[in-house]
Amino acid sequence: MFCARPVFQPKWPSITGAPSMLSLAEAQAAILARIQPATRSETLALARAHGRYVATALHARVDNPAFDNSAMDGYALHSRDLAAHDCVLPVQGESSCGSAPQQLAPGTAMRIFTGAPLPAGADTVVMQEDVKRNGERARFPQDTRTGAQVRRRGEDFRAGEALFEPGRRLSAYDLALLSAAGVAEVSVYARPRVLVVATGDELVAPGQPLKPGQIYESNRLATLLQLEALGTEAVDGGTVRDDPAVLRALLKDADDFDFIITSGGASVGDHDLVKQVFAEIGEISFWKAKIKPGKPVAFGQVGARTHFFALPGNPVSSLVTFKLFVEPALYAWHHSQLPVLELPAIAANSFQRKPGRMEFLRARLWSENGELRAEALAGQGSHQIGTLRHTNGFIRIGEDSQGFAAGERVSALPLV
Ligand code: AMP
Ligand code: MG
Repeated sequence: MFCARPVFQPKWPSITGAPSMLSLAEAQAAILARIQPATRSETLALARAHGRYVATALHARVDNPAFDNSAMDGYALHSRDLAAHDCVLPVQGESSCGSAPQQLAPGTAMRIFTGAPLPAGADTVVMQEDVKRNGERARFPQDTRTGAQVRRRGEDFRAGEALFEPGRRLSAYDLALLSAAGVAEVSVYARPRVLVVATGDELVAPGQPLKPGQIYESNRLATLLQLEALGTEAVDGGTVRDDPAVLRALLKDADDFDFIITSGGASVGDHDLVKQVFAEIGEISFWKAKIKPGKPVAFGQVGARTHFFALPGNPVSSLVTFKLFVEPALYAWHHSQLPVLELPAIAANSFQRKPGRMEFLRARLWSENGELRAEALAGQGSHQIGTLRHTNGFIRIGEDSQGFAAGERVSALPLV
């Protein structure tokens, strides 16, 4: 299945029938249409489920709050007693956290603390800062509102209520919420296995001296780390030379992976082997997108299970195509949808360009006087990884745009 063609052809005869350059939206739609979502799930304790994706809807086991309780340190009372006793009541008993209080004796107030159960017979809490205590008696404000400072049972959520649907990616606060709801374990999709391979004769690992023409490899590390952060099982396939036989050999066990992500060799140069090998062993959906940076990018499938992305080698193209294509694909694989945050911003400087491709400019974003500002950074070459030091987002420029002037409204994408 992986070696349909016995002899490697250095040019492009096998994929000339595939569709040509797609717009970003078309390319993303093509990916989403082909993703075969996860089928396996596993049950994990909450502490192990951070960043994982819910497979089975999760429901609250208890009401939250679990019982009526006090929002403040203060005094519990019944509002009708204030009117009857000219706002002065004797203080009797105490309700503290973690135990059940006595019933409130009629015509009295009870000392109470934040989170402690409201005693039966009380309907209101007055915070201690508003109370004048004099020995066993206390004076309360005239304008005390009935029901004040009481957190009602179930006002946040009810036992049985659905908290998270399948596809939800669990954040730390989601997991805290589940803990509060009495849920101890969650069913999440099994992690996809993702193989990451860098290609290039020129690439050397840092720590070794560079020979003439060599550069230090950088894409693989960023890709692996981002994949781990996205809740996948990322497998380091190392760096391979620009030799199709080597790449072919590496990919022969590809059906053990849900995704293969390669870096480099995705253009049409004589040494750009990746798409040719993918064309041999699988089916390419597209191999070019009308975007900048990142035009040479391929997506397709090998065998019944494995999706592949051939990302471009330039470090910034690698980052942008990962964000634009790989991230949404991983969410879709988990029966989910990548949340995209795109905000209007005011351009802090001008940027002129030739229309044709949708462009993602590295940008510095900040807010000023309640508005988002975006500065297109100097050094937009797709090899200029140094610019990323100052980058905390992108400015997105539409295909037909010639750029923008300072002060104009632009679309900003925070880098998260
Ligand atoms: P390619 O996509 O293979 O044509 O590579 C485009 C540019 O990116 C070339 O300048 C490569 O040297 C560089 N490049 C390719 N792969 C990597 C990598 N893994 N890390 C850093 N730079 C790379
Ligand atoms: Mg290369």
